[in-house]
Amino acid sequence: HNNRPVHPRSAIGRLPVYRAGKSPAPVDGLTSYKLSSNENPFPPLPVVLEAIQAESAVNRYPDPATTRLRGAIGAALGVDPEDVVTAAGSLGALSQVLAAFAGQEPEGDADEVVFSWRSFEAYPICVTLAGATPVPVANAADGSHDFDALAAAVTPATRVILLCSPNNPTGPAMTHEQVEAFLARVPEDVVVVLDEAYIEFVRLEGAVDGVRLYQEHPNVVVLRTFSKAHGLAGLRVGYSLQGSALRGYVRAAATTFAVTSMAEAAASTSLEHMEDVLARVDELVEERQRVVAGLKELGWVVPETHANFVWLDYSGGEGDAAEFAAAAEARALSVRAFAGEGVRVSIGEAEANTRFLELCAEYPRAPH
Ligand code: PMP
Repeated sequence: HNNRPVHPRSAIGRLPVYRAGKSPAPVDGLTSYKLSSNENPFPPLPVVLEAIQAESAVNRYPDPATTRLRGAIGAALGVDPEDVVTAAGSLGALSQVLAAFAGQEPEGDADEVVFSWRSFEAYPICVTLAGATPVPVANAADGSHDFDALAAAVTPATRVILLCSPNNPTGPAMTHEQVEAFLARVPEDVVVVLDEAYIEFVRLEGAVDGVRLYQEHPNVVVLRTFSKAHGLAGLRVGYSLQGSALRGYVRAAATTFAVTSMAEAAASTSLEHMEDVLARVDELVEERQRVVAGLKELGWVVPETHANFVWLDYSGGEGDAAEFAAAAEARALSVRAFAGEGVRVSIGEAEANTRFLELCAEYPRAPH
């Protein structure tokens, strides 16, 4: 025996830290609301809870092929179920896609993965874990992707580009035209991943249609999730969509049994009740519109949001994102502060949104 300590892979030492949204601390006399993780405030549909409870044979492994769920997704979207690869959340789906296409080859340099920044906090972590090199590219001033800068960041080492529409945490969505124009500038051997975690909340005319996009472009992968519109974040179900050129590789990189039998039953059932799901989404979009209108009335300038959150931009140097978050906390609201950048606030229950607007009325406006 020797006394040498275990050494992790070098990528582990370089990992940025993922900060999950915190629950609000209790405040006397106030109901607490969590607005820090872009969750759905509605409880699961009763039929979905029944479907979960019916999956009692958990002494057995789930279906590794998730045949029922992929069939339900295929029917709902009008796609070939073979194009669907399921995962533990869209985060799991992203990891699978990266594992298939980007990493450190035994000989040679690490592959590069280009993405807009700020965007979803997990991107640089997943890329680093895959063994690839994260290449963050600054957003445009309005929080949207800067497509010129993204195209300019592509090198011969680029294997994957991550696009996020609507972008977490800033909110803007892309048009189909914008993404088509971008794809025309990207080499066809680069995989372009379009993360559509918030697709159901988009109300933008001409918005990018991920299904059409992947069907027309063999190098495109689309990520979707049951965590947001379907409100099943705790169950961890998501998937990627890709055509015949890529799906075999993603399937080969997929984690076996990543989707539990309960998660598969819940997600499949939720898709069968899409009208109820979308009615709730409509309510949340109305709440979003109320919040955005309220903020504008107060003089705040917020990027156009097509997701279930709003972004308060604190990048101007005046005001302080952490201070705003502390003021929210004192009112039993947890929000997500990005120091020196901004504050992301999820659209929640009507009472939570109203309290957030009241806070904004009292609190100094974010600069812009
Ligand atoms: N993509 C984006 C843009 C997100 O905001 C999130 C969740 N915050 C995810 C992916 C991951 O969600 P999940 O793994 O729950 O599907």
